[in-house]
Amino acid sequence: MKKQQIIFYIKGQFEPDCLQRLSQEVSITFNRQVLIRNLDLDLEPFYDFKRRQYDAHKILYWLDTNEDNENDKKIALVSVDLYISILTFLFGQAIFNGNTGIVSNYRLRNEQYGLAPDSKLTFLRFKKVIIHELGHMFGLVHCQVPTCVMRSSTYVEDIDQKKSQFCSICSPKIDSEPASV
Ligand SMILES: [Zn+2]
Ligand SMILES: [Zn+2]
Repeated sequence: MKKQQIIFYIKGQFEPDCLQRLSQEVSITFNRQVLIRNLDLDLEPFYDFKRRQYDAHKILYWLDTNEDNENDKKIALVSVDLYISILTFLFGQAIFNGNTGIVSNYRLRNEQYGLAPDSKLTFLRFKKVIIHELGHMFGLVHCQVPTCVMRSSTYVEDIDQKKSQFCSICSPKIDSEPASV
């Protein structure tokens, strides 16, 4: 059987060069091919006018049921503000041990907190959240090791405290066979 690939479904404003680097680094982390596609979806129906945010669960569900490549790990990368009913906001969400996830860079940007823009920092945070959500999709739960990427993060400061790598406990749990050619 062909090894599962990771597919980034892009919806939003991202530098092409940023997406290339992200795909390369995620590909190395998970030892799989990463493809980049456009997410052909109008997000307006997912907008909540009261909250002025987008419903992450509904977008996830749409991606899970409407896109092909059902054996691959599909992760939507968006730049809108996301929520789920029990949380004020979220950086990302994924189906545990499933094939679908979503990450937004909206609250990862310094500008969101009245600070000077820092594209390198935004990139690093975005990468950590993507690897974290993919970790859940590969069956990893939250980890207590402070520097592990699977440590849960409520605020951007929490993301900055951890690394973009899995700790020595989490790492072996990800299937790391070389991709079949
Ligand atoms: Zn998590
Ligand atoms: Zn860990």
